[in-house]
Amino acid sequence: MPRRAHVADVAVVGGGIVGCLIARQITARAPGTSVVILERETVGGGASRRSAGLHCPRGATERVRSMAQYSQDYYNKLKDLDPALSIHRIALSVVASAASEPRLREIYLDSARLTRTDGPTGGSLGIHHPEKSQVWNCEGAQYADVYTLVQALTRDLRHLVSFREGVGVEAVEPNADDRARNGGGVALRLSTGETLMAHQVVLAPGPWLAALPWRDLVAPLGARVKKIIALHIDRLPAAGDRAVVFQDEDAFLLPLKDRGHWLFSYTCQEWDVDPGATANGLSLDNVGEARESLRRYVPELAERALSGRVFCDAYSSTGEPEVRALDADGRVVFAGAASGSGYRLAPAIASDAVDLLSLPAPRSRPAQNQRSQS
Ligand SMILES: Cc1cc2nc3c(=O)[nH]c(=O)nc-3n(C[C@H](O)[C@H](O)[C@H](O)COP(=O)(O)OP(=O)(O)OC[C@H]3O[C@@H](n4cnc5c(N)ncnc54)[C@H](O)[C@@H]3O)c2cc1C
Repeated sequence: MPRRAHVADVAVVGGGIVGCLIARQITARAPGTSVVILERETVGGGASRRSAGLHCPRGATERVRSMAQYSQDYYNKLKDLDPALSIHRIALSVVASAASEPRLREIYLDSARLTRTDGPTGGSLGIHHPEKSQVWNCEGAQYADVYTLVQALTRDLRHLVSFREGVGVEAVEPNADDRARNGGGVALRLSTGETLMAHQVVLAPGPWLAALPWRDLVAPLGARVKKIIALHIDRLPAAGDRAVVFQDEDAFLLPLKDRGHWLFSYTCQEWDVDPGATANGLSLDNVGEARESLRRYVPELAERALSGRVFCDAYSSTGEPEVRALDADGRVVFAGAASGSGYRLAPAIASDAVDLLSLPAPRSRPAQNQRSQS
């Protein structure tokens, strides 16, 4: 027999960086709102745990640039409030062909102050540049240990938000019955046998797009799941080492000074991946392909890159994050599918998601394109 129903103003499904920032922004905008985060594992255990966590100050479209600037400012404020947070500001160089300069000037934020330099970017790794490439330096980049950041955000939210870790959502039923409409709006059936009634629900499921409870609701978005692979290079970064983005190849080298090694990310084109299918780790093919890409930049170290991280992320059909209501009444909102940029754009995704909620004590908020700084 199902257990008694509990009621919340907002239930957030998924306790990754996106879900946690949604909860944080709800409590900042409308204190007193009852918020529950439902997380099947422990918080931060999904794509957020595997993230390289690089924020590069750019965006392919006007909307993404606005989201990137908002998010950069948001993370800067978080870091200023708590300097111990695992957000690390880092100098960044962009390597690209001369022909790419107009595009670079378009996509990098004005605040990045893109500056052409003749200086080498090689740093302690001795990075080679592709032939005829040029180098620009930019400002505003940072990287985070996203898992640790989620733990810190959670610690500060626990007195305001109910965290239900180890609790999976097994069904999402918008307008399940009259009692739901009066008392909540959406019925969530939980792995514990309980039913949670929520006035509104935000789905922030990371790459678990095809999970049974919301597969049909999410399918019309046309988002897909792609594998992401990064190699670890066992070389201790030096103090002055910069992150280097290879713009034309969509790859980057990141000195993870906090972990004591470099990370190399390249673009893997394996689509429609089940997140569970990456559980066995890197395959021989994955390592081979990643090393082939790495050989272009650090040939002498490519063969020594024997470890890394493999997982996946949700990619939207447009390349821009998806934040929208999934049902006619607007009670179930989706937030995510940031196409490999879910860390760096998470504050703006969260802000846009909260804009779609009717909070019990709404304060006047700016329009979606003028996001709140909450
Ligand atoms: C290797 C790698 C490198 C990356 N590098 C970068 C980078 O450099 N910069 C960048 O910006 N982004 C990067 N990303 C992308 C970024 O990490 C993700 O977009 C971001 O972490 C997504 O956060 P999220 O909160 O949406 O999802 P997640 O962190 O995946 O959180 C979703 C949560 O939902 C939970 N969940 C799923 N199903 C249920 C259920 N039925 N009931 C309850 N809970 C459920 C999961 O357990 C999970 O914790 C990278 C990703 C990977 C994999």
